[in-house]
Amino acid sequence: MKNKIRIAIDGPSGAGKSTIAKRVAKQMGIDYIDTGAMYRAIGCKILENRIDLKDKEALKQLLAQTEIDFIDGTIILDGEIVNDKIRTPAVSKIASDASALPEVREKLVVLQRKMGQVKSVVMDGRDIGTNVLTDAEYKFFMTASSAERAKRRWLELSEKGETADLAQVEADIIQRDHNDSTRVLNPLKKAGDAIELDTTGMTIEEVTQKILEVIKWQS
Ligand code: C5P
Repeated sequence: MKNKIRIAIDGPSGAGKSTIAKRVAKQMGIDYIDTGAMYRAIGCKILENRIDLKDKEALKQLLAQTEIDFIDGTIILDGEIVNDKIRTPAVSKIASDASALPEVREKLVVLQRKMGQVKSVVMDGRDIGTNVLTDAEYKFFMTASSAERAKRRWLELSEKGETADLAQVEADIIQRDHNDSTRVLNPLKKAGDAIELDTTGMTIEEVTQKILEVIKWQS
């Protein structure tokens, strides 16, 4: 591939961003970077170390001693693979709270920009098109109704053998949408030049094909 292609995919929780981003990246033979996993990894460490988010000094110290990387679909926190550990409701909540803090965002955005500078990537998150890779060649904003997103999350949890209440899953999603889109710093927002994709009622394959069609990718 001669030219670098950066594809930014933003949207609320459960819109299918990571599943689609992974597929698009695989088809194109380029890297996929899950920025949500990076916020989750930090959230996980904050929980384990019982840091109070209001304790700025403790938070600063923790961040200074934290190394995060995302390689080949694997999220690495201080040398440990934490792919499974970060997918719990408690980590979802703390990741969302911590992601509103400037100290946390600053650290991760610097890392994410570096990743997008050196190679072609598909990067998904909340602020990729509006903040991290504002000059990405392609930007998508993926949405779906909260009911459909809750159903997808609930199925994911059930497949892992976890029991969850569908109404509670939807309530958590709505709360996180609210947190993510009303925070002062880099809120969840469609970039002016992003293409909006409502995936309600669409299959994974249909959404993947739609994106590949837009970028005119032929395998
Ligand atoms: O995408 P995921 O649900 O794994 O992200 C976890 C949390 O990280 C989100 O609720 C959001 O608050 C935060 N996040 C963010 N900016 C990103 C990616 C995720 O603030 N680029």
